Amino acid sequence: MIVILFGPPGAGKGTQAQRLEREKGLVQLSTGDMLRAAVAHGTEMGLKAKAKMEAGELVSDDIVIGIIRDRIAEDDCKNGFILDGFPRTVAQAEALDGMLKEQGLKLNAVVEMKVDDNALVDRIAGRYTCAKCNAGYHDTNLKPKVDGVCDECGSTEFKRRPDDNAETVAKRLEEYYAQTAPVLPYYAEKGVLRQVDGMASIDEVAKQIDAVLAA
Ligand code: ADP
Ligand code: ADP
Ligand code: ZN
Repeated sequence: MIVILFGPPGAGKGTQAQRLEREKGLVQLSTGDMLRAAVAHGTEMGLKAKAKMEAGELVSDDIVIGIIRDRIAEDDCKNGFILDGFPRTVAQAEALDGMLKEQGLKLNAVVEMKVDDNALVDRIAGRYTCAKCNAGYHDTNLKPKVDGVCDECGSTEFKRRPDDNAETVAKRLEEYYAQTAPVLPYYAEKGVLRQVDGMASIDEVAKQIDAVLAA
């Protein structure tokens, strides 16, 4: 199964993609995570992406399309994958179509997670992740079962993203409405666009997504 989780920054894409990976064995492909790894490793691509990410702007289509093209050709993607944070422009959506066609693959669903801007800002302000396994948490909405200990791997080290600050979030939301939201009609026309209530609790959103994928 090939699924796109679609929505603004902080909508809950990563949270639900990690869950689907745990529960259904679909691979989570997060372009944000891949870009952050490239930045951390100081690769040429990372250097190009870093300034854009810190400013809350989109990284160039060429870079992210190249990353996804290489990644979906790998063996672990054979049983299906979840795209989290890609495509973010119509050009990326068109490129994805081409790649899937080349490989004889079909997109099953694009799941739009709708969340109000105010809630997005709160979610991003409280977001942190495990430094070791990248599991996602929130200061109030999703705490580890044992305070300060990652549920998934037991690590006691956590991190916050440098771009999860109020100023950059405003820019990221602007980019979302200007460049990414226009991808929605593209998929609506193809008849693959589905919606879930991203304002609901994490468990309720999970149920709605599972219902969409089972349909
Ligand atoms: P995205 O990948 O879309 O940017 P995340 O999955 O990282 O978003 O979620 C942003 C923050 O909001 C995280 O801290 C996460 O724990 C929290 N979160 C995710 N889904 C919900 C939800 N349905 N209700 C409340 N908080 C949520
Ligand atoms: P969020 O879902 O919280 O906005 P991501 O981790 O998906 O965050 O993305 C973080 C940053 O990485 C974006 O602000 C952008 O600079 C860059 N990025 C991630 N995915 C893409 C993409 N598909 N196209 C362009 N830039 C991207
Ligand atoms: Zn962990």
